[in-house]
Amino acid sequence: MEPLHADTLLRVFQLVTTMLALATLGGAWHLKGERALWYWAGAFAAAAVTQAIRATLIALEAPRVLWVIGHQGSLLAALMVLLGLRVYLGLPLRARWPIVFTGLTCVASFALTAWVGQFWPSLTLTLLASAVLNMPAAHAALRAWKEQRGFPLALLAGDLLVSAVIEVARGLAVSPLIAQSRAELMAYNSIGLLATIALLIGQALAMLLLLQDRALRQIERLVEIDVLTGLLNRRGFDERLRRLLKRGAPRPPLLAVLDVDHFKRINDTHGHAVGDAVLSGVGARLHEALRPLDLAVRLGGEEFAVIWLNPEAGGEMRLGERLREVIGGQPFETVAGALTITVSVGVAPAAGPDEAPEALFSRADAALYEAKRGGRDRVVLAA
Ligand code: GH3
Ligand code: MG
Ligand code: MG
Repeated sequence: MEPLHADTLLRVFQLVTTMLALATLGGAWHLKGERALWYWAGAFAAAAVTQAIRATLIALEAPRVLWVIGHQGSLLAALMVLLGLRVYLGLPLRARWPIVFTGLTCVASFALTAWVGQFWPSLTLTLLASAVLNMPAAHAALRAWKEQRGFPLALLAGDLLVSAVIEVARGLAVSPLIAQSRAELMAYNSIGLLATIALLIGQALAMLLLLQDRALRQIERLVEIDVLTGLLNRRGFDERLRRLLKRGAPRPPLLAVLDVDHFKRINDTHGHAVGDAVLSGVGARLHEALRPLDLAVRLGGEEFAVIWLNPEAGGEMRLGERLREVIGGQPFETVAGALTITVSVGVAPAAGPDEAPEALFSRADAALYEAKRGGRDRVVLAA
């Protein structure tokens, strides 16, 4: 490849990195709170700005040693990608070390150029150092992918790994170890630059997909949560119950459906806001009473459900009674004073992994109906 092509490629590189920087900066501005995206936008900006400065210095015929600012782009970009990933994934990584490493490499790169009087040592050094910075980033992305899965993390991990390999290859190719002439050096550098452009576009794509992925997960979580009590809502519960029943366990899970007795009276006597406060209190007590793996849900209105995983054998009535005690045992403090309520509870153990969630629910519901018919404030075990 001719040196002319290398120059053209540098312009393409500058154009692409500027575009990516503008797009990610715009995205970061739009999303405001996304700190990771500011770092990632900084990565593309660093690549674009160092090239622009280099071009200006050349045009101004500044001392040649200053031109190596153009080499620092990949290094600064790798640093920013790592710092952004640290924020995004919450990595327990001290930011100080990569920053010090980058700073020292930059200084060494200028010093080396001044000393040797050639560009390749600086280019090789910064490329190898970029590869070093890409390794912990790739490792973190890979580990996160193993835990969370998802295409964006796989794309970023793969991209960073390939980037590190390309950087090492580029760093060695432009050194006298491989490049035998200036023309060869320029040719190898051009090929490397082309690969870098493609990899940077891949990184930008992965970053935007990562943010979208997280936003979707947050929305998914929100639509499963009941606003008043913070418990799961019916939608979230159905999904989880289905999964739990399918998974199977040494002992089948136990479902309780509970309904506050004469709740309408509380609303009618004290107003809807006091009713809301009581419901919120019921949610808090259920949440506190359960082990971390058990689930509590607000089915809607003043109806709740609880599912115990691996309940002790023969403990159905005892667990149901405990719920009745947790809710009815102490009054709720409200602006209308201390209010005591009672609940009726229907309990049903899952018949086995093949039982449909709807069937389990309707057995617990029938037991609840029995409890209401029997006079309320009691627990009935499904037949
Ligand atoms: P029962 O013992 O038969 O269950 O009587 P009840 O009064 O508890 O049952 P009913 O189904 O007649 O009334 C339930 C009441 O719950 C009616 C409704 O206004 C109230 N409710 C439902 N959702 C909410 C809510 O989010 N906040 C408040 N404050 N009240 C609610
Ligand atoms: Mg009720
Ligand atoms: Mg009801």
